Amino acid sequence: EMKRYNSQKKELKVQLLEKEPEFNWKVFWIFFNPQLSAFLAAVLLAVGAAILNIHIPLMLGELVNVVAQFTREHAGNYLCEVKGPALRLLGLYGLQGLMTSGYIILLSRVGERVAAEMRKSLFVSLVRQDIAFFDANKTGRMVNRLTSDVQEFKSSFKMVISQGLRSITQTAGCFVSLYLISPKLTTVMVVVVPCLVATGALIGSFLRKLSRRAQEQVARATGVADEALGNVRAVRAFAMESRETELYTVEVDKSSRMNESLGIGIAVFQGLSNVALNCIVLGTIYIGGSFIANNDLSAGDLMSFYVASQTVQRSLANISILFGQVVRGMSAGARVFEHMVLEPTIPLKGGISIPLNLLTGHIKFSNISFNYPTRPGHVVLKDFDLVLPPYKTVAIVGESGGGKSTVAALLERFYDPDNGIITLDGHDIKSIDPSWLRGNAIGFISQEPVLFGTSVMENIRFGKPDATDKEVYEAAKMANAHHFITNFPDGYNTVVGERGVTLSGGQKQRIAIARALIKNPRILILDEATSALDAESERAVQDALDRATSGRTVLIIAHRLSTIQNADIICVLSNGNIKEMGSHETLLKKEGLYSELIKRQRTNEQK
Ligand code: ADP
Repeated sequence: EMKRYNSQKKELKVQLLEKEPEFNWKVFWIFFNPQLSAFLAAVLLAVGAAILNIHIPLMLGELVNVVAQFTREHAGNYLCEVKGPALRLLGLYGLQGLMTSGYIILLSRVGERVAAEMRKSLFVSLVRQDIAFFDANKTGRMVNRLTSDVQEFKSSFKMVISQGLRSITQTAGCFVSLYLISPKLTTVMVVVVPCLVATGALIGSFLRKLSRRAQEQVARATGVADEALGNVRAVRAFAMESRETELYTVEVDKSSRMNESLGIGIAVFQGLSNVALNCIVLGTIYIGGSFIANNDLSAGDLMSFYVASQTVQRSLANISILFGQVVRGMSAGARVFEHMVLEPTIPLKGGISIPLNLLTGHIKFSNISFNYPTRPGHVVLKDFDLVLPPYKTVAIVGESGGGKSTVAALLERFYDPDNGIITLDGHDIKSIDPSWLRGNAIGFISQEPVLFGTSVMENIRFGKPDATDKEVYEAAKMANAHHFITNFPDGYNTVVGERGVTLSGGQKQRIAIARALIKNPRILILDEATSALDAESERAVQDALDRATSGRTVLIIAHRLSTIQNADIICVLSNGNIKEMGSHETLLKKEGLYSELIKRQRTNEQK
């Protein structure tokens, strides 16, 4: 429990320590510029609607004056007298409604388009980042930037612009009309209302803080439940049900207490603000009444004054809330823009490509030193040399964590080495177009094949987007996959992945092999599966791999030793470079590291 608490605290600290990115106005302008005319039109309509809002109380007052005059004097024809102001008021209402809908439509158009462009552009810049970037950033946080941060930015933008414009225009305009109606009454208001609004804003921000803390507590409770239910097997195996229940109870109780105090806070706030608002009404009529008695003011003016002052109050309160929204929206926007301006060190495209008929697939690693950018100081490869001769199969073996997969990652140019040079047919791979290198020259079959949630057909075609159906079938046949695929009811149209058919490990691997073979790569990298398949799948996969490796330069990252005994060359990687090299037999005879590894694996298997 203590551990979990500490790790939570650490995580919180990390979050706090992480520097908030600055809002990048330049990038914002790139997205905003195309929407400028729509935005300006929206601003005009919004200001227009707000100005009409200011006029409405004045005209209401006019109407009331007519009514009051009529009730006092019973003179003239009421309907006739009232028709003019009433119709004008009605027209104003209509116009105001139209302008309101107009600016909301325009603003939401601007907001949606800016948000969509931001999402697309952020995705584009995320997907091209260095692999090292993905080592350092959690997927969840990146997805959050695409979804909730863009959402937050968009809604803050819309809200701040529409409500901000309205509130400011209304406050300014209503103050003018208040002053025109009664300078004396306005002076009283100028003193009282800001005090009340400021007090309200202060209490409001305190309540928001309380609410945020309560929400965090709810999230903490959910986290405990999530962990326990998600890992129910572990909980059951250690008979920890009651302890987990206790943990959950503690967190839930805490959150209920916090939410209760929040409820009390809100209740007090509501009560107080009701009293304050009503007192303002009372005060206006009370003080205004005395002016009426002195003939300084008419009843209609008082009505106008009252409605206008209400508008001012509401607008001021709104502005104080909007300040918080501005801060939130800008920090969400800053998070979105942060990764957009990030340039990857390894570009996706650009550089030479070797005509495929001239490509022999001769690869040479010279004097390579490398450590992962996320783990500086932890040297993985040091003075590493290796030659992969054309048409030969080279297997790298060695301790787990020794850097075997890293060799493959460097050849794919997922990372650039800190030192040394890797050449393909004599060309530094840094001068070669990375998308050609990965897309055409090298086929990569990884340990844990990842299939996408579409049809088998599309998954294989992922290796070569313009492949015909026939090419897909051919690749599947070569990978020993055609048979089991055609046995599915939907054949090649079978959808795999989370919402589709679950494939066995061996089937997945054979589809991954087909996907790598369809581009007919000169070079093949096999990052071998660490987990053993059942004997039959193993044979099918091995059979497919044997066929796939012939006529190619092959690099096998061997996590198990049993499958690579036929490799032309076996290299033993230890302490960052190759210590032994030769065929299975010669290395066994040498009785060095390789035979040591074989022995150790045998004893492990016997255990
Ligand atoms: P092997 O394939 O021989 O098991 P790897 O090449 O996967 O070894 O890993 C070599 C070392 O580099 C290990 O210490 C591992 O922890 C570290 N490492 C591997 N991948 C990363 C990564 N993406 N970021 C940081 N360190 C890594």
